[in-house]
Amino acid sequence: THFGFETVSEAEKADKVKSVFENVAARYDLMNDCMSVGVHRVWKDIFVHRINPGANTRMIDVAGGTGKYFRNCDIAFRFLKFQLASTKSDTFRVGSPISILDPRVELPPDQPRAENEAEAQYQAVGSQSSLPKNEELTSRSVLVSDINPRMLEVGQKRSLTALTADEQKRIDWLEADAENLETIPDESFDVYTIAFGIRNCVHIENVIHEAYRVLKPGGRFMCLEFSQVPNSLLRWVYDQYSFQVIPAMGQVIAGDWDSYKYLVESIRKFPNQEEFKSLIQQAGFRFVSYENLTFGVTAIHSGYKI
Ligand code: SAM
Repeated sequence: THFGFETVSEAEKADKVKSVFENVAARYDLMNDCMSVGVHRVWKDIFVHRINPGANTRMIDVAGGTGKYFRNCDIAFRFLKFQLASTKSDTFRVGSPISILDPRVELPPDQPRAENEAEAQYQAVGSQSSLPKNEELTSRSVLVSDINPRMLEVGQKRSLTALTADEQKRIDWLEADAENLETIPDESFDVYTIAFGIRNCVHIENVIHEAYRVLKPGGRFMCLEFSQVPNSLLRWVYDQYSFQVIPAMGQVIAGDWDSYKYLVESIRKFPNQEEFKSLIQQAGFRFVSYENLTFGVTAIHSGYKI
């Protein structure tokens, strides 16, 4: 199970996940920084960089949780900064406080041709024209959804100080289960993101099916998640760190050993890169690929609804 050696039902897992995130909400960003030695910021930068949103791209960030604004700690906030920067290219520079990476970089030359074609189709759908400065959007650019109102509340409060008035107009919040986004009509978004959220869901197949449903044709599924380290020596080092250091850190910083022990165990139970890729393909996505970050500690999976 995800909870050590106990056997739990699906309903118990859902309850457990809810209470874990209620327990850690307030200290979540601080713990992320400590556990990953700040590297999660780089992973998130790379993730949004891979999305490469255009001015009119509409995104849903599922399991969006909290987002503390300190050099853009969160996918939705980063997306907005990135999107606005793409309409004001003069203010966006490599090493700027917005991102450590330049969003205008081309796809890597070694990417397969088919993927470049899919990327071109996605860009055509997702980023047609430039958004006039200061113009009110007819529909918001980003919808952040999470099952846990406490995580949304923290994110919402932070958005008031983290985002400019312009950016705040572009973000919306929704309490929803990733497995059943019932209030969202079919084909609503250009991009669906889920970062460090899918492994907490009970039926990950349902999550991917819902992602497929809410994406427009040509839309892109993007998932950033902890994954498996293929190299056995590095995996041993990583295991020692995960099982010995992280729960202890959780106890010291957030006063909660068990929640962080659960987080580590849920990472180990999650399908590896290839298995997860197959699940995405089975849901109907095409040109599915993944990119390992930090030796496979995390991976970005991507697929297109074509
Ligand atoms: N995406 C954020 C980030 O990258 O920092 C937060 C990730 S946090 C590890 C996981 C989030 O998933 C929590 O906010 C939790 O409430 C949410 N979550 C867990 N199960 C969920 C579900 N079934 N549907 C939607 N959100 C869920």
